Amino acid sequence: MSDCLFCKIIKGDIPSKKVFDGEHIYGFEDINGQAPVHILLIPKKHIPNFTDVSSEDAPILLEMFAAVKKLAHENGFSESGFRTVINEGPDSGQEVFHLHMHLLAKRKLSWPPG
Ligand code: AMP
Ligand code: ZN
Repeated sequence: MSDCLFCKIIKGDIPSKKVFDGEHIYGFEDINGQAPVHILLIPKKHIPNFTDVSSEDAPILLEMFAAVKKLAHENGFSESGFRTVINEGPDSGQEVFHLHMHLLAKRKLSWPPG
C-alpha cells in the first residue's frame, strides 16, 4: 500500500527506531511513547485491521507473539510485566490502518484503561 504510513516505515522511506526485524514482523519505537517502553510490532505484509487477519496469516501472528517474548527477555521486563494492545475501529481511537500491536512496559499501567 503506497499511501500507508507503516508500509513506508517498513520500506525505509520514513525513518524509525528499529527494535525487531524478523521474517514477517518489524518492530520499532512509537513516536509518541506512553511508557518507558512503547514498541509497535507490525506485519511486513499490509494487513489493514485485526478483522482482516485470516488463517493463512498464522505464521505472522506467531512471530508477533515470539517478538513480544524476545523483547521482554532482552529488555528486562519479562518479570515486571507489560501490556499489549491492538486498537480496532473508532471506539478504540485507531489512527493507523495497518495492523499493529502496541507493547508497553517499565511502568505501572492502570486498569481499566481510559
Ligand atoms: P493506533 O492509535 O493504535 O492506530 O496507534 C498508532 C500509533 O502509531 C500511535 O501510538 C502513534 O504514536 C504511532 N505513530 C504514528 N506515526 C508514527 C511514526 N512515524 N513512527 C512511530 N510511531 C508512529
Ligand atoms: Zn501498510
